[in-house]
Amino acid sequence: MLDETHMGQAASVNGNRRIARCECGATLEGGSEAGLYEAVQLHLAQHHPQLLGAMGLDVVLQMAEDIGGTDASGSGH
Ligand SMILES: [Zn+2]
Repeated sequence: MLDETHMGQAASVNGNRRIARCECGATLEGGSEAGLYEAVQLHLAQHHPQLLGAMGLDVVLQMAEDIGGTDASGSGH
């Protein structure tokens, strides 16, 4: 049986990933600028629908930081 569940997944490229922190504290993440933008749009649609129109791609990219993918330092333990 064909089960193409992995179709829509962003392949983890060996490069920088992009993250952006929402004002609510959520961290959005994407494998590319477009992927991050999509993640932000999804988050906004679910949690801040009133902001959907206000957050264009340029705004998202201003919020974005790239992470090298080495260590995601957790909250200590
Ligand atoms: Zn949020």
